[in-house]
Amino acid sequence: MECQYNAFLLRYHEIAIKGKNRRMFENKLVDSVHRLLKGIENLRVKNQRGRIIVHLKEWADFKEEELELAIAQLRKCFGLESFSPVICVETDMAVIEQTAMAAFDTAYANYTARFNGEVRYRMRARRSLKSFPLNSKELEIHFANMFLPKYDKLKVDLENAALTIGLEVREKHSFVWFDSYEGPGGLPIGSSGSVMALLSGGIDSPVACYTAMKRGSQCSFITFHSHPYTPPTAISKVAQIAGVINSFQRKQPLLACNLASAQKAIRDNCSERFRTILYRRMMMRVASVVSDWHNDKALLTGESLGQVASQTLENMTVINASTTKLILRPLVCYDKNEAVRLARKMGTMELSSIDVPDSCTIFAPGSPATKAKLPFVLQEEAKLDVPKLVRESLQETTQVDLESYELTADESLQIYVESLSDDQLYC
Ligand code: ATP
Ligand code: MG
Repeated sequence: MECQYNAFLLRYHEIAIKGKNRRMFENKLVDSVHRLLKGIENLRVKNQRGRIIVHLKEWADFKEEELELAIAQLRKCFGLESFSPVICVETDMAVIEQTAMAAFDTAYANYTARFNGEVRYRMRARRSLKSFPLNSKELEIHFANMFLPKYDKLKVDLENAALTIGLEVREKHSFVWFDSYEGPGGLPIGSSGSVMALLSGGIDSPVACYTAMKRGSQCSFITFHSHPYTPPTAISKVAQIAGVINSFQRKQPLLACNLASAQKAIRDNCSERFRTILYRRMMMRVASVVSDWHNDKALLTGESLGQVASQTLENMTVINASTTKLILRPLVCYDKNEAVRLARKMGTMELSSIDVPDSCTIFAPGSPATKAKLPFVLQEEAKLDVPKLVRESLQETTQVDLESYELTADESLQIYVESLSDDQLYC
């Protein structure tokens, strides 16, 4: 029989050093836990001096499927260092002893049923209630003196233990655990504001979202397509990817912008070598307006230094000059295989691997400039009516339903766009 767990003990680290903002960080973390565990009924989430305790109404035991769901979901909770399913009891030495002995009995029986030979174990005790008579070390010795005579195959092994029993003695409650799961670390979502991700169907941009969410930023999304030159699957693929990213955060919208007319104007009027850069500058302008409307404080891309022609230092400098909005490029110094590893971890890799034409590859130049200089790019851009093209692209920007992939116009975005002068569309 497995142990009956009636709580989860959640550990966080970095937010514990945030001084005056600590309360805000802790509240965001509690919010995240509530959101991620909303599939479990009667859940209680409490913050208690540097730990978060999750339990059910009246401290009922978690059912097997609830335990599994909670473990899978808490692995997605940014801000958590680690967490354990625990047996929670009142802080009373007799009760703790009885609980730890009974739980250890079960764990020992489970272990010996599967493996022969000695059982190497260690105890990790922690006493945060300083008035408790035994300190951490004394607790470990105390329990070793109880366990060792009882089980003939048991051996203490601090370095290579196969069985770990954890005990945390806190003011009101104490916790006994056997398994500790790694959280994703970082900061709770929402604690660093929100950004708008330029989300493509590629591998990198979802990973950029993961890294931004890990540092506490919520991500909303904009994607660019070139209907009728790109198929509807260009949008539905990105919508599916956005769905996976949303499973880490409070659901955020995806906007889709049809860039085809701007791309055609660039194709027909400007030097082929600068096409990709000119597309990117258009994207940045549109994304800047949409992100202002959505109140996102920065743009986010999956660009990585040297990966493709548009991602050289020179070209990124020219792309930056198209907007005053901060552009975050968390993958700029990542290798592709690092991005792939994270894409697998977050669950977007499979979707990203499906081959669908991307907006940027439409009318793509044969030999793009890799070291564009701003004056030359501006010269080319002067051949275009940029504010008109940006306005038209914004008028072609719609909300994407993440389930049905249907596109619907957003009235409030259009009202916002109408309120802007041409100067505000052109940087
Ligand atoms: P890959 O994984 O193939 O590199 P990618 O999405 O990174 O895919 P790039 O051509 O390297 O594609 O584009 C760099 C960045 O520009 C993307 O990470 C993304 O942020 C943005 N971007 C490119 N194409 C689009 C698009 N169609 N819609 C929105 N953003 C895009
Ligand atoms: Mg890329």
